[in-house]
Amino acid sequence: MTAGKRVGLTGLALICCGALAVYFAMSAAPNGASVGPAIRMAALIVSILAAVVTLVLWRNFHRTVRTLSAQLKSMAQADEMIPIGVDYACDKLLQIARPLNDVLTRAKKRIDGATGKARELQIQLRVADAQKHHTEAIIYSISDAVVVTNKFDELIMANEAAEKLLGFRHAEGVRRGIEEVISDGTFVRLVRETRAHGRTMTRKVVEHTIDQNGPPRTFNITLSCVVAPNDEVSGVVAVLHDVTREKEIARMKTDFVSNVSHELKTPLASIKAYVEMLLDGEAEDKDVQREFYETISSETDRLHRLIENILNISRIESGVVKVVREPVSLTVVVKQAIGVASPQAKAKNIELAENLAPIYYQVEADRDMVYQAVLNLLSNAIKYTPESGGVSVNVSVDESRGIATLSVMDTGNGIPSEDLPRIFDKFYRVQANNSMAKGTGLGLALVKHIIEVIHDGRLVVDSEVGVGSTFSFELPLLT
Ligand code: ADP
Repeated sequence: MTAGKRVGLTGLALICCGALAVYFAMSAAPNGASVGPAIRMAALIVSILAAVVTLVLWRNFHRTVRTLSAQLKSMAQADEMIPIGVDYACDKLLQIARPLNDVLTRAKKRIDGATGKARELQIQLRVADAQKHHTEAIIYSISDAVVVTNKFDELIMANEAAEKLLGFRHAEGVRRGIEEVISDGTFVRLVRETRAHGRTMTRKVVEHTIDQNGPPRTFNITLSCVVAPNDEVSGVVAVLHDVTREKEIARMKTDFVSNVSHELKTPLASIKAYVEMLLDGEAEDKDVQREFYETISSETDRLHRLIENILNISRIESGVVKVVREPVSLTVVVKQAIGVASPQAKAKNIELAENLAPIYYQVEADRDMVYQAVLNLLSNAIKYTPESGGVSVNVSVDESRGIATLSVMDTGNGIPSEDLPRIFDKFYRVQANNSMAKGTGLGLALVKHIIEVIHDGRLVVDSEVGVGSTFSFELPLLT
């Protein structure tokens, strides 16, 4: 029962007492004799007293409730307790205030605890967020394509390289099954298999060719299971490393070895055959003997050139060969090279034209190296020009620009435009021209190194398939 109700009931009881006193006083009067005025007066006074007491108690109660209400309001605003020292004019209300304060204190403690925990969680969340961004930044900065899936085979992370390679948009694919996002069936199957094998096979590397966006490229895909602390597989990380170039280099090296062996064997076999014929006395005629000796000599030159090229490229590139700069007449060097290449041209009935600047124009260069460069260009022009074609060698001088230019023009097969950017790479050979002549793919790499790196010159090529090619280089003129 509340304090208000108690005050009300006390007042009511007093009024009832007064009313009962009046009733008994009246009923005590014998045979309708009228009640004495003293008794009536007493009843009236008791009633009035009871009303006054009730009123006072009622007002006090209201005042206390108002005070308590005001205190609760200010407590709500200022985060305070109910002041116990306040005169509530009613012990019972004080009894309410105390446990209420206890409840409030406990609630406050819980709120403080929860607030602390929330703050801690917020900090942890921020740290986790920062770590996530850091991990994402690492994954995004990797040049290899990276795809991360969860235990439901849904995409959860992928970098830009993966988006480009596998043709999807990461933002649209997050939390969707990888089979919906990535169309490369083999890749999807590999991810699923890795997750399904779980801890029995946590990491594997698979070679796979992807040809979705552009020409086919070969990748080494490293698939690793992400294992959670409870030992469960929580997803898969796939890293796709492009090995196309490495595989091509490996293939080029194998080709190189077989080409070099062939290049060495062919002139050697021919030298051996001619020497044996001479030894067996098969060439009694002086002219025939001379022809045999000439063939042996040109084949030996060919062997020498090949070995020189192989040795030079490694020696020049590693800086073992000392560069000797001296005034050199480009025309003289070119004449020397033409003299050496002539038999090769004659054998194919190729007309070798020349248009050379006066010999007094000089460049400052390493004579042997420039000779090798010219000989390689000339030899290529003859090699890649069909029988009865034409090769012309020009040396011109531009005094105003202070430049001497050599150009070797042929009416050969030409070079497809897609091969042009790569013909100066070591071991690179144009597939379309492979059947025309054997080679090592080292000649042009050597020429480029000699002209551009050692002599600070410029080497250019202009070629059209079925029409021919022009290789030219410029060297600064000595003034
Ligand atoms: P190789 O030993 O194969 O001749 P090079 O480095 O000298 O090596 O040349 C690289 C490739 O460039 C050659 O395999 C050939 O296909 C192409 N090439 C070079 N010169 C010419 C040319 N004058 N005409 C057509 N193709 C050429």
